[in-house]
Amino acid sequence: MKTIGLIGGMSWESTALYYQTINREIAARKGGLHSAKLLLASVDFAEIGEKQKLGEWDALAAQLVDLAKKLRSAGADCILICTNTMHKIAPQVQAAIDVPLIHIATPTITAIEAAGLSTVGLLGTKFTMSERFMLERYADNGVRCLVPDEGMQNEVHRIIFDELCQGDVSDSSRVTLITACEALRKQGAQGIILGCTELTLSVKPQHIVQPLFDTTALHAQAAVDFALSKI
Ligand code: GLU
Repeated sequence: MKTIGLIGGMSWESTALYYQTINREIAARKGGLHSAKLLLASVDFAEIGEKQKLGEWDALAAQLVDLAKKLRSAGADCILICTNTMHKIAPQVQAAIDVPLIHIATPTITAIEAAGLSTVGLLGTKFTMSERFMLERYADNGVRCLVPDEGMQNEVHRIIFDELCQGDVSDSSRVTLITACEALRKQGAQGIILGCTELTLSVKPQHIVQPLFDTTALHAQAAVDFALSKI
């Protein structure tokens, strides 16, 4: 079994899900007492969130490159950045290491293709919904993403940072997120990407009509596929 390297803590609420999903998946596939070989570098998310707000992406890239190299030196055979937003600087991290950076969009695109869909709604932070780094990644792979209007983007972003990243999961915010999904469905979204690793804490498949693509679970499962692969 290969060793998985996680860069997490963004927020720790979703990194806990990665840890649980990866271990449960290893146990399900291998049985008995098997669990994951895993290294975790976990940051103080307050520092990261502040730099995101200030647009200090070069500093953020340098910080994550440093962590990826440390995980690699400690024996990681692959690296995962456990947040969609921080994939903005994924190219810099991949360039600094000699093992695969498993991109969060890769297993999501595979799942969308397997479901036979081509147009989906994307919910995430304002960075993920309004900037090019994630939308283009999907578009380049034949997946068209629809995003909420600016007012709803601001509200989803607020729910992520002020509530879900702090462990606050409320019915009222779930209703807002479901409303956003419904508006995207009316615009033609055949499915919804939960393109923020905390959204799965609130929105579950039974809450919406369309298929849901949970990036947290798909990313964690891709790590297990890699860890158990022969290559
Ligand atoms: N975990 C979230 C994401 O998947 C947001 C936290 C962050 O800004 O990195 O985008």
